[in-house]
Amino acid sequence: MSIAATGGSQAELTVRYAHALMNTFGAPKRVFVRGEGVHLWDADGNRYLDLLAGLAVNALGHAHPQVLGAISAQLSTLGHVSNFFATPTQIALAERLAGFTTVNDPGREARVFFTNSGTEANEAGFKITRMTGRTKLIAMDGSFHGRSLGALALTSNPKYREPFEPLPGVVEFVPYGDAEALAAALDETVAAVIVEPIQGENGVVEPPSGFLAQARELTASVGALLWIDEVQTGIGRCGAWLASSDSGVTADIVTFAKGLGNGFPVGACVATGAAASLLGPGSHGTTFGGNPVAAAAGLAVLNIIERDGLLERVTAAGERLASRVMALGHPQVTAVRGRGLLRGVVLADPIAPAVADAALDAGFVINAPRPNVLRLAPPLVISDADLDRFVAALPGFLDGAST
Ligand SMILES: *Cc1c(COP(=O)(O)O)cnc(C)c1O
Repeated sequence: MSIAATGGSQAELTVRYAHALMNTFGAPKRVFVRGEGVHLWDADGNRYLDLLAGLAVNALGHAHPQVLGAISAQLSTLGHVSNFFATPTQIALAERLAGFTTVNDPGREARVFFTNSGTEANEAGFKITRMTGRTKLIAMDGSFHGRSLGALALTSNPKYREPFEPLPGVVEFVPYGDAEALAAALDETVAAVIVEPIQGENGVVEPPSGFLAQARELTASVGALLWIDEVQTGIGRCGAWLASSDSGVTADIVTFAKGLGNGFPVGACVATGAAASLLGPGSHGTTFGGNPVAAAAGLAVLNIIERDGLLERVTAAGERLASRVMALGHPQVTAVRGRGLLRGVVLADPIAPAVADAALDAGFVINAPRPNVLRLAPPLVISDADLDRFVAALPGFLDGAST
C-alpha cells in the first residue's frame, strides 16, 4: 500500500472518509493513526489520553506487547481453520469463559459458541432461546444489545428500532431493575429474560442491588432462561470477570465481547445447564468465530489481567476516580455511577456532548452516551496519575460548556 493512500492530514482524511464510508456514525471527530498504552495520536500528530478505550474494548491499552506477541505467534503458527476442525487455543479460551460463568455454581455444565462481536454473541443467545419451544422474550427499558435485526429486537431505543420494524418478536420491555414489573410480565410462555448488569449505552445505569437475584428466582419459577449481557461490563471492566457474579447468580446464557480481545474482534455466547445443549449440529454456525488468532488474543488478555492483579486494581482505581470527581464539588456533577472502570458522570444540565468535545480538544477521549452523562471506560491498566490529570482538567470543560 502506498503512503499516499494512508497518509494525509486529518482534514484531508475526513473528506475522503465522507466519500468512502457510509454515514452511519456521523462525521468522525478525529482520525487516529497510532496507539500505545493509554495514549492515541491523531493524523496531525496530537496526543490524547484514551479514557474510552475503543468503547470498553482496549482493556490492556493499545499495542500491548504481550497481546501482540500472542497474536503474532498464533498467526505465524496457525491463523485459521474452518469449524469442521478444532484448535487448542479455542478450547482453552472456552474453558476459561465457562469457568467464569459458573463461578457461583462450580461444576455446572457450561459451553461456548464463539463469535466476532457482541451482536453476534447475542444472536447466538437469541437462537438458543428459540430452541426452548417458547418464543416470548423480556428485555429491559434502556437496554442495548446490538444492531442486527435479532439484537435490535432486544434493544429498547425506538430511534434505533422503528425504521427496521417488523423485528423478530415477541419482545416485551419492562422497567430496568423493577422486579415487580418483571414478575407481572413473566409466565410460562416466556423463553428468556435478557438484562445487562449495568446499562452502559444507556448512560451507565445500575439496577437496585438484589435485582439480578430476583430475576434469577423469577425466571426459574416459570422455567424461563436468565440471559445476562456482559458484552460491555465483563472481562474485568467492573472489577470482576463478570459484573453480575457478585450477585450470586448463575445465568443460563452469558454473552461477552468488547474487552475480551483487547481490540481483536472476539465474542462469546456461554450457555449453562440445560441451555448449554439447546443448540445442536446444524442449528448455528460461523466461519470466523472461534478462530485461533482471536482465541489467542482472548487468552492473552485473560492471562495478563490475572497475572497483573487487574481485577483488584480496577476496583480500587474506579472508586478513587469516582470519589475524586465527586470531591471536585462542581455544581454540574450530581453523581458518579457505575463500578470499576465503567463510570458515568451525571451532569445537572444536558451539556455532556459539549463537555466531551472540549475534553477531546484538550487531549482527553471520553464520550456522552446521554445528553447529561459523560462515560469513562479507560484501559484497565491506567494509572492514578493519568486519571487525576483528567479529574483536574474536568472543571474547566464543565465551566466552558455551561456558559
Ligand atoms: C456494545 C454492546 C453490544 C454489541 O456489541 P458489538 O460488538 O458492537 O456488536 C451488545 N451488548 C452490549 C451490552 C453492548 O455494550
